[in-house]
Amino acid sequence: MSRLRLPRLRLTGVQGVRTSDLMGLLLKLALLGVALYAAYKTFSRWKGLYDRFVGPPPVPQRPEPPRAPEPAPTTQTAQTRPKVIEDTVQCVGCGAYVSTAAEKCGHCGRPLP
Ligand SMILES: [Zn+2]
Repeated sequence: MSRLRLPRLRLTGVQGVRTSDLMGLLLKLALLGVALYAAYKTFSRWKGLYDRFVGPPPVPQRPEPPRAPEPAPTTQTAQTRPKVIEDTVQCVGCGAYVSTAAEKCGHCGRPLP
């Protein structure tokens, strides 16, 4: 029976670091990652409790939409810049302020009360 000659197992890594040491280093790194993750989760939980009891955080986490659609810019300008000083009434149809002398709204044509 001829013995199959196997190369001797050498526990040396790429740069002369023993494999057991390399595995120990990886294990330490993994444990460090788990510990950091647990610390972060604990911190965020306590911070959440703190914010719930003390107050909301000053900066909202919601990202603002890039463009907010303006519902009705014409009524805004009509409200902010009255041209004539007279009794006005707000139209129930479109919300514009129109003169009480007018019989119907000039914006939507709704008859005023
Ligand atoms: Zn109107």
